[in-house]
Amino acid sequence: MKPLRVLLVEDSEDDVELILRELRRGGFAPEFKRVETYEDMDDALSRQSWDLIISDYSMPHFDGLRALQLTRSKGADIPFIIVSGSIGEDTAVAAMKAGAHDYLLKGNIARLLPAIERELREVRVRQGRQQADETIQRLAYTDPITGLPNRTRFRELVQEAIAEGQREQRPVAMLLMDLDHFKDVNDTLGHDYGDSLLQQVSLRLRSALFSPDVIARLGGDEFGILLPKIAAADDVKFVVRKLHQCLEVPFMIGGIPIVVETSIGVATMPEHADNADTLILRADIAMYHAKQLASDYAVYTPESNPHSHERLGLMAELRNAIEQNQLLLQFQPKLELKTGRIIGCEALVRWQHPRLGLVPPDKFILAAEHTGLIGPLTRWVLVESLTRCQSTQSNGNALRVSVNLSARSLHDPQLTKMIADALDATGANPNQLMLEVTESAIVLDPKRASDNLMELSRMGTLLSIDDFGTGYTSLASIKHLPVNEIKIDKSFVTNMLVDNKDAMIVRTVIDLGHNFGLTVVAEGVETKEVLDVLSALGCDEAQGFFISKPQSCEQLQNWLSTSPYKIGSAG
Ligand code: C2E
Ligand code: CA
Ligand code: CA
Repeated sequence: MKPLRVLLVEDSEDDVELILRELRRGGFAPEFKRVETYEDMDDALSRQSWDLIISDYSMPHFDGLRALQLTRSKGADIPFIIVSGSIGEDTAVAAMKAGAHDYLLKGNIARLLPAIERELREVRVRQGRQQADETIQRLAYTDPITGLPNRTRFRELVQEAIAEGQREQRPVAMLLMDLDHFKDVNDTLGHDYGDSLLQQVSLRLRSALFSPDVIARLGGDEFGILLPKIAAADDVKFVVRKLHQCLEVPFMIGGIPIVVETSIGVATMPEHADNADTLILRADIAMYHAKQLASDYAVYTPESNPHSHERLGLMAELRNAIEQNQLLLQFQPKLELKTGRIIGCEALVRWQHPRLGLVPPDKFILAAEHTGLIGPLTRWVLVESLTRCQSTQSNGNALRVSVNLSARSLHDPQLTKMIADALDATGANPNQLMLEVTESAIVLDPKRASDNLMELSRMGTLLSIDDFGTGYTSLASIKHLPVNEIKIDKSFVTNMLVDNKDAMIVRTVIDLGHNFGLTVVAEGVETKEVLDVLSALGCDEAQGFFISKPQSCEQLQNWLSTSPYKIGSAG
């Protein structure tokens, strides 16, 4: 007999008997409670967890729809089946829309068992999915060697700390340190000893810090430390001293005492930055400065930033770049794995700078966001990419084009108008345009993002979640958005054959995406081996240097006519 905890919302003892008999007949050992009022049900839901709720549709003091609402308001994912003496199609539909899993007529009680079996199975699938979601998060956000948060997670934590510090008008400090001569340990003693040193160092550092402080391994021998709750920026130097002190006693690695020295770079919010990326960047600059000075630590100063003047100058020039036609697009084809067809391409912007040559987007997109230039830039990219893809169409190859939207654009109230205008101006079909946004951009302002994305979906454009796996949100939390595709971040794909963790993430994201009915794209495919494994895993599409580097529209057209791949149309 299978134990089953059933909550029965039912006023009739006879009907309870009927249901229990049916359950026992199906091999269940029901452990049940009967309730017939709102208060009693509320109490029963708070007291324990239930496997199943069976509710009468109408009762003298209560009814099935309110019982359902009460269950949902508790956030409980429990199969909810409505049983009724008589029920019209309309009410049945209303009940299902309100979230009931099934409704049955008492005269047709034989349908109860199959309905229960099915719902219990589905709950297990849902829970499995949630667990898979959580596994991805864990894998994607912790460093496997030290168990500390990794760079991705650290950045998110810095973001959160900055937001909180700004709300509470408190400074936030960030320290970046790396271990001098770590490479020597790795090279002479081997990786296992290197890993062991990293573990021991992380334990000592952790124990030198207070509990709200965060320590993360950012990669290699680099650690990030976040002090979210310091009283004054000046207090950082005490922390720095403690960190140095805790490393003074040599580490014993393979019986050999190893002395670890570090340089620490410090940057604080609000003094040096008001966002996570700048804060991390400036702590990094300070760390290099400390090394140059052969000092054990340095606080960021603008003079230590070799790029700031250059970058400011660059921004002034970007203003003219758009008008003077210095921006250009390269297109990278997307391959459909099942059919071997090229079915679209991603537009990637570059800046042909008169003095500096071809400047990659990473060097100017973020700055464009901060200087209000992202609007005009996005408008230019949209019109240019749609025009270009129209031109491929006239040759008989209608390629769908994917355009990246930055966080700023995603939250811009003018976005939908901008896109509608671009579609109008170029005569492109909305379903030829796929917009790529990142999860981290969505979570900055989910309401605003979701309004824009819903409106765009109504217009008929498609939506892709870019860099999937690097954010901290789960698929479940974006499932209400009109998403068509997810792109597994290249950091997982490129190394999936050498890094088990990456392989696992890729595999899980493919399965998860398919569970949610989405097309799954892998980006950063650099070798045939990776491409073959992705095909075997059932991944839908691939993009990467192995297939083709990003290239100009003219080059792409040539390439299409000579490449081994077939050409498909946006369908
Ligand atoms: P992304 O959207 O993740 O674009 C993919 C990046 O990976 C591109 O870099 C592409 O050249 C590179 N890539 C493609 N295949 C491979 C591969 O096999 N291996 C490796 N290692 N890399 C590969 P790119 O062009 O430098 O663009 C960098 C980022 O700049 C993009 O990342 C995107 O976030 C942003 N970006 C590019 N164009 C635009 C744009 O028009 N608007 C906005 N807002 N952002 C853009
Ligand atoms: Ca992209
Ligand atoms: Ca990407």
